[in-house]
Amino acid sequence: MGIQKIEVYSITLAYREPFRIATEASTESRNVVVKIVTDYGVCGWGESSPSDRVTGETAETVIKVLDKIAPRLIGMCPLRIEQNVELMDSMVAGNPAAKAAIDIALHDILGKTVKKPLYMVMGGYRTEILTDITLGIKSPREMAKDAVKAVKKGFKALKVKVGVNPEEDVERIRLIREAVGEKIQIRIDANQGWMPKQAIEVLKKIEKFNIQFAEQPVPAENLKGLIEVKRNSPIPIMADESVHSPEDALQLIRAEAVDLINIKLMKGGGIHKAKKIAAIAEAAGIPCMIGCMGESEIGIAAGTHLAAAVKNIQYADLDSDLLLKDKLATKGVTKVKNSMRILPKLHGLGIWELNGEILGKPLKVYH
Ligand SMILES: [Mg+2]
Repeated sequence: MGIQKIEVYSITLAYREPFRIATEASTESRNVVVKIVTDYGVCGWGESSPSDRVTGETAETVIKVLDKIAPRLIGMCPLRIEQNVELMDSMVAGNPAAKAAIDIALHDILGKTVKKPLYMVMGGYRTEILTDITLGIKSPREMAKDAVKAVKKGFKALKVKVGVNPEEDVERIRLIREAVGEKIQIRIDANQGWMPKQAIEVLKKIEKFNIQFAEQPVPAENLKGLIEVKRNSPIPIMADESVHSPEDALQLIRAEAVDLINIKLMKGGGIHKAKKIAAIAEAAGIPCMIGCMGESEIGIAAGTHLAAAVKNIQYADLDSDLLLKDKLATKGVTKVKNSMRILPKLHGLGIWELNGEILGKPLKVYH
């Protein structure tokens, strides 16, 4: 059994409204979709949603990297995932979002080959997971209104973007907590927007608003600052931009720099590496979250299956498909009901039908 053909598609998905975080604003997500066809009739879908800000990748670099990798994967056994990941890493350093597209498609094939939903093949710990919905940066009052709208839709957890201006950030959290009441979980994400001292000040001021955890308070490269914030914060600290790979996770855990880790398939190169991060963190008593960054239903399905499979992935921020206006997958998507991501009982990722207009014709075909 071998990989017979790889198709690469370039897609552009518009957000419902401009999405702003501490360091940038986006109106669309430019992603790359991969279809891997095997010589035994099973095919798998994968997706890359690159972020220049996080890993230095763009749709163009992903397409270039796939142009090197894809020809070498032809003829390889799709189920030998560790071997295929090793091959990709030996050919091209870094570029995790490009490699994630291949990794996700291989995992889709794994589930379809054994005729089971992917999460059942990978450990099958749970069948659904609570996801938050993210509130992008606006004025504190507008964000409080967005929070109420999200709660009315059934969301039980809010991820609030902060990190612009410390005083205004405190006001954001105060107004949102007042607007939604005590029962809704609130977690915050500063996206590297604060200096360590500012972070500690803000975190002490918002402690009374019952904040579950605070993501990436300081710049990724400032390890000393992160350690200082973690030591002095009354709120648990989660690393996001600071942890891309299993090696990063080990380094931060050894430095006692974090309480929690946000795993993203696009930072680490896909599901295979994400499982290693979750295992390292579990051994250290550090729970993980699964996050996302602009993925459509394909990438979100991959994240949901991983979170369902792995016990130590206790939190989920799986909402990018909900923030996008354009819908790539039309059937077999992981639905959200009362804040829970529910997996379809279909084989593999479960992605059943894609919107041909959005997908278009393949940019490249390797065979
Ligand atoms: Mg984050």
